[in-house]
Amino acid sequence: MITLKDIQKAYRIHDIETVALDSLDLTVNQGDFVSIMGPSGCGKSTLLSIIGMLDSCDSGSYRFLDLNIEAYSENQLAKLRSRNLGYIFQSFNLVDDLTVAENIELPLLYNKVGKKQRRARVQAIMERLSITHRANHLPQHLSGGQQQRVAIARALVIEPKLILADEPTGNLDSENGTEVMRLLTELNQQGTTIVMVTHSETDAQFGNRIVHLLDGKMISRQPKVVLSEVQYA
Ligand code: ADP
Ligand code: MG
Repeated sequence: MITLKDIQKAYRIHDIETVALDSLDLTVNQGDFVSIMGPSGCGKSTLLSIIGMLDSCDSGSYRFLDLNIEAYSENQLAKLRSRNLGYIFQSFNLVDDLTVAENIELPLLYNKVGKKQRRARVQAIMERLSITHRANHLPQHLSGGQQQRVAIARALVIEPKLILADEPTGNLDSENGTEVMRLLTELNQQGTTIVMVTHSETDAQFGNRIVHLLDGKMISRQPKVVLSEVQYA
């Protein structure tokens, strides 16, 4: 589904260059649940932005769904993103002055889905995530756990091929964090490919592959460690 080869990415501010990704290779297959770990500043978010086509790399090649996206215009990229990708962030990134239902509806508006279908799909996803009773509330009136549910609903409403999650449990207590990980695991089991950045060793274990980054380089890959019942509880 995704192939990154020899990716190089640096940020330049006032002649100071920070290398964020250095000769990075990564392949993600359909159905994978990849956890990306590493210390702060090692390039995890940069990698996710490149995979999510929110940022471009300086050199190297990136293929998404086997498409040569390097040749795509900004408009074509925006279409590709809005039809295939769901993003989940640590800070939820909901629109403050839109209700829960309106936040979830946004990606469908971008994709020009008709009103009737929008209603039905928003309704269905709210029911699936048990947030229907909050449909007309504003995000600020919800707990962190509920806000992240809304963000997940917004990511899911387009039925994305790929979900990108950047520290999705970073702002949640352990109970809500476990709930989010349970949801992601369930989605993955239903066929959605997931790439998740996390600081948490426990969360990382939910993936079927763990990738470690250090100073913009991949340092190891390890096979899945079978979860114990205790970690699931
Ligand atoms: P992580 O998510 O692993 O903490 P990031 O991908 O955010 O790491 O950052 C990797 C490196 O690139 C860091 O040294 C960071 O300071 C730098 N960096 C990230 N984004 C920018 C930016 N927009 N401008 C300048 N430097 C940046
Ligand atoms: Mg980060």
